Amino acid sequence: MPRTLLIAGNWKMNKTATEAVELIKAIVPAIGKQTDINVVVAPPFTALQSVGENLVNSTVNLGAQNVSEKPHGAYTGEVSTAMLRDLHVTHVIIGHSERRSYYGETDAIVNKKTLAALENTLKPIVCVGETLAERESAKTFEVIGQQITVGLANIPANQFANVIVAYEPVWAIGTGKTATPAMAQEVHAFIRAQLAKLQGEAAAQKTRILYGGSMKPDNADALLAEADIDGGLIGGAALVAKDFIALVESGKKASARK
Ligand code: PEP
Repeated sequence: MPRTLLIAGNWKMNKTATEAVELIKAIVPAIGKQTDINVVVAPPFTALQSVGENLVNSTVNLGAQNVSEKPHGAYTGEVSTAMLRDLHVTHVIIGHSERRSYYGETDAIVNKKTLAALENTLKPIVCVGETLAERESAKTFEVIGQQITVGLANIPANQFANVIVAYEPVWAIGTGKTATPAMAQEVHAFIRAQLAKLQGEAAAQKTRILYGGSMKPDNADALLAEADIDGGLIGGAALVAKDFIALVESGKKASARK
């Protein structure tokens, strides 16, 4: 069974609820009925409700950019898995490099959040990736091996099918620098081998591994053609309706060829 490609837009801390509605209204008419691939948009928490209302009767799924590992209680400023589910959120980005570097999220925290998401039937998009210094000191595989082994530890076998991994080289995020398709493919194949060690070859073959890092309409076709690249996690280009629509079209083309 080929893996269903996934194109996900991470809107980060951009767009008020009003602006987010404008953006989703520009996207949905173009791609809201396609069923060839999966599409997710992840607006800020404050726009989840209004964007979600505009996704009813569309095939576009709603994602969040973070979630608490705690179920409820005195955790000021946090948002739980149940709160997201209540807004019809289906996916959640976990361990984005911005959360790791600015908010101190460790692999152990990523693991707790991933387990909490799966427990409440949210599909986690777990981000891994090396910094420029790590790549230049030949630590890419060591770093990513650790992020996968710790971040995805102890996942019950029957929940693993809902896990999505995103390889996002930190040096490529928001910088305009993209990993070449060959560089990305090498790491994606490594990640799949790590997943096989954790959950067996069959589960690893079913897991989507997205690429993220300055993916744009002009480089997406080449990246998505690689055997182990199963879609994209897109930041900047996801904020421009025509670019995001073009990326979904690239995903559909790649899906037809895989
Ligand atoms: C991201 O932050 O997930 C990302 C890939 O950003 P950009 O596409 O802007 O590099």
